[in-house]
This record gives sequence, structure tokens and C-alpha cells, in this order.
Amino acid sequence: MKELEYFLADEAATIAIGAGLAQVLKSTAVQQALVVYLNGDLGAGKTTLTRGFVRGMGHQGNVKSPTYTLVEPYELANWRIFHFDLYRLADPEELEYMGIRDYFNDDCCCFIEWPEKGTGLLAKADIIINIAYQDEQRIIKLQAESTHGEQVMTALAD
Ligand code: ADP
Ligand code: MG
Repeated sequence: MKELEYFLADEAATIAIGAGLAQVLKSTAVQQALVVYLNGDLGAGKTTLTRGFVRGMGHQGNVKSPTYTLVEPYELANWRIFHFDLYRLADPEELEYMGIRDYFNDDCCCFIEWPEKGTGLLAKADIIINIAYQDEQRIIKLQAESTHGEQVMTALAD
């Protein structure tokens, strides 16, 4: 599955997509890094989707937006998740200082809001997600950018 599109009627539907991605990763025998780029205007639901993913992966506490910290890490039993929000990134070099390259490992899932701010320093996306306003609701489009991304999306659509 290279492209998927869903209508998201409410916040719960946005969370469910994130939780669905978590379900797919957890049920796959081979652990493989997943890099997701999240595009969409402020308030579209990028953090909400990531919250669904992080909780779905088993994190029980808060999932707050890394607006000021740039990255929020979650250490789980078998996985590490890094949730980036690069909106306030002034200089891509800051990512070098953060040791960005160490974040892209096989036991890591990276969900990245505003990825265009880190062009050249981020791992390639497996899946690019676009969330757009549709009046008060949302439309989400997922696009596979790698074989792994395609496998994950095929399982998600099942
Ligand atoms: P972003 O990270 O893209 O800036 P947030 O996830 O922080 O956006 O905020 C999204 C806002 O929109 C939240 O207030 C959330 O409750 C709401 N929201 C999320 N998904 C939907 C949806 N499908 N329909 C309507 N409102 C939604
Ligand atoms: Mg956000």
C-alpha cells in the first residue's frame, strides 16, 4: 500500500491512526526502525497522532509537545521513540549538537513534526503523513517512502 487516505471525524480518530501504527509495529516479528514525517498546519493534529502512537506502544504517562525542547524521548521495553517538533529550530546545526544521528537506529521510532526544518540532517522517511483541515475535521494522507513503510501501511489498512 503506497497511499492511504482517511477522513478523521474527531480527535479520537486521529489518535486511532497513531495507535494503529503502534499495533502494526508491535505485531511485526522483525524490529525495524520507523521514520515518520508529519506535515500539516499548526493545530492540524501531528502531536495528537504521535500521542496515539506513543501510548499505543505502551507508554502510560503524559505525551507533551516537544515545542521548546525539540525532542521528547520515550524509553520503552523494546523500543525507543523520539518525538521531534522542529518548528522552533533556528539553525539545522542544532540538530548536530543534539547528536541527531544517534536517533536513527533499528530500535528507534522517530516521529518528526516540521521535518523541512531539518532537511539534510534527518534520516529518510519511511512514511510521510499529511494532515489537513477539512472545516472542523481533518483529512489524513499517508504516503510510503520505503519498502518498510509500504509494509507497515499495508498492515495498517488491513
Ligand atoms: P499539531 O501538533 O499539528 O500542531 P495538535 O495535535 O497539538 O496539532 O493539536 C490538534 C488539535 O486539533 C487538538 O486540539 C485536537 O483535539 C484537535 N484534533 C485532532 N484531531 C482532530 C480531528 N480529526 N478533528 C477535529 N479536531 C481534531
Ligand atoms: Mg505539534
